[in-house]
Amino acid sequence: MPKTVRVTIWNEGRHEKSHPEVAKVYPKGIHGALAAGLSKQPGLTVVKTATLDEDEEHGLSEKVLAKTDVLTWWGHMAHHEVADAIVERVHKHVLEGMGLIVLHSGHYSKIFRKLMGTGCGLKWREAAEQERLWVVRPGHPIVEGLGEYLELPHTEMYGEFFDIPQPDELILISWFEGGDVFRSGCCWNRGGGKVFYFRPGHETFPIYYDKNVLRLLGNACRWAARPAGSSYSLACPNVAVPLNPIPKKK
Ligand code: ZN
Repeated sequence: MPKTVRVTIWNEGRHEKSHPEVAKVYPKGIHGALAAGLSKQPGLTVVKTATLDEDEEHGLSEKVLAKTDVLTWWGHMAHHEVADAIVERVHKHVLEGMGLIVLHSGHYSKIFRKLMGTGCGLKWREAAEQERLWVVRPGHPIVEGLGEYLELPHTEMYGEFFDIPQPDELILISWFEGGDVFRSGCCWNRGGGKVFYFRPGHETFPIYYDKNVLRLLGNACRWAARPAGSSYSLACPNVAVPLNPIPKKK
């Protein structure tokens, strides 16, 4: 892990502009709330927030990503407007070691579906249900400092079946008031990079101000951070000269 983890927070940023009820909950945008909360977590520095409409690169230039150890991703209504070239760029950076934390409705983002290779669909319901997220991997760095479970009073429900590949590590399972369950905290390795999916975070609920959620996301940023001095390479070289001499075969 680098000394200070450099975090870039990406947000689609459309709901906050078009829906007053969302702007009321997130007056500085979901990215603004996450930046304020995560910059208070130990070992992290928020280097940038970026949004879809910021510029033609959605604020994710090569220069920005090169200086990013972890990228967080929130999107919902405009996944299809994210340029394929930017998705390719983020994908390459993940394989080369950049961490990626995909939040809530980011399950349907182009980048998450590309990294997973599955449909990434799920069940959902908006009924302000109570959610209890059970820690099923105690001792994992992502749940450091948290108890047996986290509770959120009002959430949008996401239910199984969640169409993802089996996580390399399953950290959290949610129970919802209405009876559904969901794999809410999932880790994967992709190339040299780490990917974490975290379920909570609907735009009309103040979830990204919750102190346990911020602590968990801070932990996740430190866990997923691009490893210092990584030698991971996407190259595919022909090593015609072997390390040890190979006796001539007859
Ligand atoms: Zn939602």
